[in-house]
Amino acid sequence: MARRLIKPARAGKKPELECYMKNTFSATTSYLPNAFLAFLAILLCFNFLLSAISLSNAAALPAESAITVKPEPTSIPPGGVSLVRISVPQGATVTAIRYLKKNFPVFRQKGDNWFAIIGAGLKTSPGRHNLTVKWKQADQQEIYASVLPIIRKKYPEEHLKVSRKMVNFPPDILKRVLDDQKAVRGACSRISKERYWQGSFIWPVNSKVLSPFGLRRFFNGQPRSPHSGVDLRAKDGTPIVAPNNGVVVLARDCYLSGKTVVIDHGAGLYTLYAHFSKFKVKTGDKVKKGQVIGLAGSTGRVTGPHLHWGVSLLGTRIDPQQFMEVAEKL
Ligand SMILES: [Zn+2]
Repeated sequence: MARRLIKPARAGKKPELECYMKNTFSATTSYLPNAFLAFLAILLCFNFLLSAISLSNAAALPAESAITVKPEPTSIPPGGVSLVRISVPQGATVTAIRYLKKNFPVFRQKGDNWFAIIGAGLKTSPGRHNLTVKWKQADQQEIYASVLPIIRKKYPEEHLKVSRKMVNFPPDILKRVLDDQKAVRGACSRISKERYWQGSFIWPVNSKVLSPFGLRRFFNGQPRSPHSGVDLRAKDGTPIVAPNNGVVVLARDCYLSGKTVVIDHGAGLYTLYAHFSKFKVKTGDKVKKGQVIGLAGSTGRVTGPHLHWGVSLLGTRIDPQQFMEVAEKL
């Protein structure tokens, strides 16, 4: 077969079609209609022109395709939060931001500026962790990769001597505690695509932090779960407000946290309030920034009135104080 293909074509006979690549262009011309050849020539020229244009584009690509990703702060402790500002070339869109195996919601701020609030759980190991931004330019998927380190932080410790029944619950109480935990976890688990919160956040009560986030607690020498929120000073009956817009997804009387409220602010962000003396909202209520959601108190297992305030991002508890430092910059 191969031998037959390289055989020169005899005059007056049409060569095999497969042979024409082996012949010179002039040898082939006599067998192809002139109009077709002209079309082929135009096509080749056009193709050449196109590749020249795309080459010049490729040369200009680095400047045009520049993306800037600025996390603030540039490193965080376990339980910490960072505000990532992203700016992309005109018309490009940011499709995802990934950190610690989670896709964080990303929002367009203005024009080609985008932002995301990312956070790390208390159990995250210190070290270098990748921060990846996926973005799209003219239907082409691009990836930007950098590192946002988790730094070591030694959270303070608190040692308390408590009665044995405060540590070891009887079965009926234990069941109630576990049911409460399941209800709160369930309330914070849905990640709504819609973002209800807008602009900066306000503190639920303007007062002193009595007990910080991450405090490592020991009861009778035994380690307990670290403090998942902050305790804010609040006298019995102090009005507590919603720090931003949202929907109440839980208003429940819990054994440990007393009268508890959870607000869904949308896009995986939740805030939690414990030890209220009185609810001012119920499950399903829409709340506005600054609206009173309850009165501070000392319900549940507490030594005195205060507000326990927690912030959850994509199911992970983050430091409310650091969250506010970041959220105030929005
Ligand atoms: Zn607390």
